[in-house]
Amino acid sequence: MLNLMRPEILFPLFASSDTLKGVGPKLAPLVERVAGPLARDLVFLKPQGLIERRVTTVADAREGEPQIFGLRIDAHLPPHGAGRPYRIRAADETGFIFINWFKGYGAHLARQHPVGARRAVAGKPERFNVELSIAHPDYILPFERAAEIPTVETVYPATAGLPSRVLRKIVLDALARAPALPEWQDPAWIARMGWPSWREALERLHAPETAADLEPSAPHRRRLAYDELLAHQLAMKKRKQARAAEPAPVILKSELAGRVEAALPFALTGAQARTLAEIRADLASGERMSRLIQGDVGSGKTVVAMLAMADVAANGGQSALMAPTEILARQHFETLAQPLESQGIQIVLLTGRDKGAARAEKLAALVSGEAAVAVGTHALFQDDVAFRDLRLAIVDEQHRFGVAERRRLQEKGASVHLAALSATPIPRTLELTVFGDLDVSRLDEKPPGRKPVTTTAAPSGRLVQVVERLRGAIAGGAQAFWICPLVSESEVLDVTAAEDRAAFLRQALGPRVGLVHGKMAPAEKDAVMAAFADGTISVLVATTVVEVGVNVPSATIMVIEHAERFGLAQLHQLRGRVGRGAAQSACLLLYDPPLSQTATARLDILRQTEDGFVIAEQDLALRGGGDLMGLKQSGFPDYRFADPTTHADLIAAAADDARLVLSRDPGLTSPRGRALQVLEELFDWRADKAWNAAG
Ligand code: ADP
Ligand code: MG
Repeated sequence: MLNLMRPEILFPLFASSDTLKGVGPKLAPLVERVAGPLARDLVFLKPQGLIERRVTTVADAREGEPQIFGLRIDAHLPPHGAGRPYRIRAADETGFIFINWFKGYGAHLARQHPVGARRAVAGKPERFNVELSIAHPDYILPFERAAEIPTVETVYPATAGLPSRVLRKIVLDALARAPALPEWQDPAWIARMGWPSWREALERLHAPETAADLEPSAPHRRRLAYDELLAHQLAMKKRKQARAAEPAPVILKSELAGRVEAALPFALTGAQARTLAEIRADLASGERMSRLIQGDVGSGKTVVAMLAMADVAANGGQSALMAPTEILARQHFETLAQPLESQGIQIVLLTGRDKGAARAEKLAALVSGEAAVAVGTHALFQDDVAFRDLRLAIVDEQHRFGVAERRRLQEKGASVHLAALSATPIPRTLELTVFGDLDVSRLDEKPPGRKPVTTTAAPSGRLVQVVERLRGAIAGGAQAFWICPLVSESEVLDVTAAEDRAAFLRQALGPRVGLVHGKMAPAEKDAVMAAFADGTISVLVATTVVEVGVNVPSATIMVIEHAERFGLAQLHQLRGRVGRGAAQSACLLLYDPPLSQTATARLDILRQTEDGFVIAEQDLALRGGGDLMGLKQSGFPDYRFADPTTHADLIAAAADDARLVLSRDPGLTSPRGRALQVLEELFDWRADKAWNAAG
């Protein structure tokens, strides 16, 4: 943890949490588990709730509410029998109340609270028949010390051995050590938002006065969230600056790419033209490109990538397009081969299936530079694959690859430009937090002429009618996907379910029903897919392995079983497999009733729109902060204060703020800049494993 750059003013916050009052060797590991290893982590520990205590009398006591009583000890009633409580009877002028302990504190209690003594007692009374009692009072103090019982007490996430009240004392000690820090936020912005200073915000965090103070929407909570977001945005933007500062080959817009484009049977959409221009500006800048290109399936990402690759070829360099599966790689190759080769750009397909002499020949074409474009799978970054001059790496379905895999491909060249393609449009908030260190292009416009997919939902009880309708459609020459979800812990069981479904459909519809699932050998899978693509098979039963990009334009029907078990984004992806040709397509969502409210909302959204960006935003709104697991899987950072829905506006503002600050003061040397350096230290995002952290 030694950090020579850390400003001295932060030392007390970065002290180990076992230096805090009351944290001995026994508590230290518990404190670390609940909050973290540093005093800072306790200062940043969010309370879970608060206890508001009403001062009252026995006659006015309310059951189940925390209250404070002024009582005189009336009698000690030792337990009569095992498992019975030790009881003290106490009273005020309005009545009796019993205070019960279920552990053997008898002698101690008799000494501590002799008959006749006056006590302030806090706890939640309960009533059994006419008898009012408090089990294990929160406080029982000599009456003169009644003021020590907090009327509002902050509750922390307790754990066995570390009760909330002990943790609260430790937090308050840590807070007492927190210095006032120079303001790093723009004063005008703070004033406009009506936010307190950092130190005041923390004080309110640990001394909430009302339940509203515990909400992420409270001003002090928004201030802390904004601090955290700004620190994160600064870290990402700095990383981006550092990467861009690496020199990279200049690639200029070419006539060759112009010829490839002119030979296409269609004109680029506005979004494609804009994205291509963004890529070209990056490639011509002399700085290394790192760009994420997001767009629904069918929005035309591959075409844009192809034109960039043509530019690279015209400039004497090579490109590699990497796809996560063999099927996808093959499909890309088939899309690219004709348009590129007809303009004299040689392209090779390299997958795990290439062996022996054929493979050697392809590798030779890449080393010599004879092939300007390589399309393939993981096979592309194997050790014995070498390029003469790799300048552009394109990673399709980037989330299917790890950072290390992407880097292995990039390391095949000196300073390789990177474009990552994603068919999973993500909401702006995720884009800014997960991919804040990338440039992003959005293909938010579909090529013209596509008919919207008719989407309907039906309970699974209608299966028989569905199969009947499908029989009619197939007789008319239609093709259908039939998706069985992967749901159980055991893939084997899921595969069995898909096999059963395929058998059932074969019985109902005849032999032209195929099946693909994740347990099949690649060659076997390819054969089934090919049979579906050429129309030999009419119905393709599949687990979710139907690859995201797989293109079978003749398929017009998509049936999804147990649609309620899929996330919105996944349903949207699956539906994207149809509606790719000129014919009208249909998507049927079969569900097991009853539907939960969220599941109903999901299916409704799908019926209303086919725009992946809209769906992604709605998906996030539906999940809210409630689905942190799901968010984490999508790479959402582990924020302490910032919440993706409540603070969405702050995420965007922090991204703008960071960009502006760094453009005006790249070294952060102005007074605000120096204060921001303290902020960065405080949240310490430099070590975060964001998408591009490694490169
Ligand atoms: P993605 O990779 O985003 O799924 P593709 O680039 O594979 O999309 O394009 C999907 C299909 O749409 C392909 O058949 C492609 O030829 C076609 N296409 C791409 N751009 C256009 C366009 N501007 N106009 C018409 N068709 C297009
Ligand atoms: Mg694609």
